[in-house]
Amino acid sequence: MTKTKLTPMMEQYQKIKDQYPDAFLFYRLGDFYEMFNDDAVKGSQLLELTLTTRSHSAKNPIPMCGVPHKAVQNYIDILVDQGYKVAICEQMEDPKLAKGMVKREVIQLVTPGTQTDTGAAGAKRNNYLTALTMPTADHYGLAYTDLSTGELKVAAIDNLTTVMNELMSLQTKEVVVNESIPASLTERFKKLGLLVSRQLEIEPSSELSYVQQDLTDERMIQTVGMLVTYVTVTQKRSLAHLQRAVAYRPTAFLKFDHSSQANLELTQNLRTKKKSGTLLWLLDETKTAMGGRLLKQWLDRPLIDQAMIEDRQAKVGALLDHYFERNSLQAELVKVYDLERLAGRVAFGSVNGRDLIQLQTSLEQVPQIKHTLSELDEAVFDPMLDQLDPVEDVATAIRDAIVPETPLSVTDGGVIRDGYNDQLDDYRDAMRNGKQWLAELEAHEREVTGINNLKIGYNHVFGYYIEVTKVNLDKLPADRYQRKQTLANAERFSTPELKEKERLILEAEEKSTALEYQLFVDLREQVKKAITRLQKLAAAIASLDVLQSFAVVSEDYHFVKPTFTQGHQLAIKQGRHPVVEKVLGRQSYVPNDVLMDDQTNILLITGPNMSGKSTYMRQLALTVIIAQMGCFVPAESAQMPIFDQIFTRIGAADDLISGQSTFMVEMQEANRALSQATANSLILFDEIGRGTATYDGMALAQAIVEYVHNKVHAKTLFSTHYHELTALDDVLPQLKNVHVGAVEQDGDLVFLHQVQPGPADKSYGIHVAKLAGMPDSLLQRADVILQQLEQQAADAPTVAKETDSQTKPAAQSPTATAPEPATPVAPTQPAALVSETQPVADTDQQ
Ligand code: ADP
Repeated sequence: MTKTKLTPMMEQYQKIKDQYPDAFLFYRLGDFYEMFNDDAVKGSQLLELTLTTRSHSAKNPIPMCGVPHKAVQNYIDILVDQGYKVAICEQMEDPKLAKGMVKREVIQLVTPGTQTDTGAAGAKRNNYLTALTMPTADHYGLAYTDLSTGELKVAAIDNLTTVMNELMSLQTKEVVVNESIPASLTERFKKLGLLVSRQLEIEPSSELSYVQQDLTDERMIQTVGMLVTYVTVTQKRSLAHLQRAVAYRPTAFLKFDHSSQANLELTQNLRTKKKSGTLLWLLDETKTAMGGRLLKQWLDRPLIDQAMIEDRQAKVGALLDHYFERNSLQAELVKVYDLERLAGRVAFGSVNGRDLIQLQTSLEQVPQIKHTLSELDEAVFDPMLDQLDPVEDVATAIRDAIVPETPLSVTDGGVIRDGYNDQLDDYRDAMRNGKQWLAELEAHEREVTGINNLKIGYNHVFGYYIEVTKVNLDKLPADRYQRKQTLANAERFSTPELKEKERLILEAEEKSTALEYQLFVDLREQVKKAITRLQKLAAAIASLDVLQSFAVVSEDYHFVKPTFTQGHQLAIKQGRHPVVEKVLGRQSYVPNDVLMDDQTNILLITGPNMSGKSTYMRQLALTVIIAQMGCFVPAESAQMPIFDQIFTRIGAADDLISGQSTFMVEMQEANRALSQATANSLILFDEIGRGTATYDGMALAQAIVEYVHNKVHAKTLFSTHYHELTALDDVLPQLKNVHVGAVEQDGDLVFLHQVQPGPADKSYGIHVAKLAGMPDSLLQRADVILQQLEQQAADAPTVAKETDSQTKPAAQSPTATAPEPATPVAPTQPAALVSETQPVADTDQQ
């Protein structure tokens, strides 16, 4: 392509665009932001804008599209929500006053991880930007921040699995990396839908004050530095609200990986992908946005420190016991706005008068909240009472300065109260007097001219004028009136007195709005100095809010305080799955015990499909998580150890369909549990092995049970449809059989949802098939096959190895995986095939 000479404007555009190759450049041109070239082509599609061209006459017209500056935020949000970056390029001087090209600069780079205007929908969600470094193999530094709240955390992590889990549970949309991160890893991030951004270099002029943290680990310092540099360079605005980085250890919390988080439906419903029907949904009775976000954080990171858990429990208990105080607290919390994000907007300078009124209203609740809390008279709240600083100086300053019903705009006046500033009052007097004077002038002119519809008006171009309709023109005295503007049926005039007053009024107006804005900015700066105090207050209010939410939930759903044991015994009496219970209704839910003493590590759960095995397993996991968050739990009583990790392999209905690769996932998840679990972990294995051929699957299932039993010693719930495995309780002392009961009534199967000791005595598959409405002839045939199989089993008491087509019992005993203790297991019946014409297809190809 031959290079055509660019116009000066396009030259300026190109120079700026070159600095932001991976972003849409929104180039301010008058009342529009324009996009050019590829940006315009792609942008017009994504934003449904009309694509036009610039310099039509030229050989290569430039594609162009634009958005009105007033509506720009919507368009930015659309692009950023889809994972793109937008560079906002402003006119840096008044085009009317500019000599030559108007100076333009990018004032902000909006990216998915730095977006702060997340609207009402995002109020209870954090938007985290993450930075990742890898100074040496498998040694990672991970830092994250929410720019809207100023939260900043960092961790040193020694394995990729934990890094991936952190990224997933933070639900981060953008990761900043440097060259230490290999391409294979960034590709993996991209596959997960993350935007990968390269490290940015700091501009010499920018100040970077946040690298000096109280951090000792080199990689943490480096990672925080990289993160803060990225936000400094992209945001180009005050980041006074960014908190000092807090180092955390992912291992200092109850760990569960992302698939467990998804399977247990902690924050997202598996089917709908929404919050409804999740544990978060159940636990969320928070009254503030800050509380809502903190609750999610606590759910992502339940505690493992007993003292900390018990501290939360004590507070929940106190709130539970004081019904009236709790009600007042809720009423007060409702009036508290999002202090964290307000503080963020103060720092950015994007705060308006209404935001400040919200801040004032929020702060005014604090003395009352403190009072109510002290009424509880509970020592556990003493530290919190100290933290609840009403930041009175700020509340007072806002109250004194800002009009309560203040307008949205801070540049058009009407924001600052009368009596706040003498100079402002003088201007306002002049404006009011001027208006009064104009009214009097109008009356006077009507009288002397005798023109009753003569009126005084104002417009931006001509200023103040006296308007006289054409029919009345001859009544005007010629000398005093100077013509300004001619309309279809009227003329507009000025007079020397009017001109003089106009100057005074306009000057007063202009000076008054300018002064108001200045006063507003001064106030904003004053509030900015209090940001750290506001953030501390916000943290205290958020945690109070979550604790009262726990109290409400514990009362509404009849939760009890769990106690923690030093040993390994677990005794949950009459436990419930709180979400299923809420959905089904309290009456319909059948509570169940989970009893595992010091000597019992594995419960092998059998029972028909749909009887409640998986619900029972999930129930325990949720109870553990709720307990370690510091909340009471859904049971009549609960005693449990503190767990370090939870592993789940719970097949979702839809992943059974996709076959072999899913089986691979199943094995990977199982392997993760086997290799990482400790004696203090909880493992849930739901029907492991069902994804492959019967014997193959059963063999694996048995070997896994043995491995957990002999090597891992984690508390494990293992549900299976391999009835043969129930024989293991003869040889594995720490394994117990339980089953979920069902009874036959008039040939139908009735689920009791009740977990009872011992193995299930019969497979109810055929009954379930009947419930599903399968043809009678098919069901009768299945009955016959079952009887034949049971007969064969009775004839062949040793374990059988299945061969190609026929029943050839091989006397081979399964071997134990571990040398100690020797556990020769001889499950009783081989599930051999019965042939009618051909083998019934449950084909195992070896
Ligand atoms: P399984 O894993 O044995 O196939 P599920 O745990 O999926 O069975 O339970 C099937 C259904 O039975 C659930 O959707 C739920 O509605 C109901 N259910 C399970 N446990 C209970 C219970 N304890 N009380 C009442 N209903 C239950």
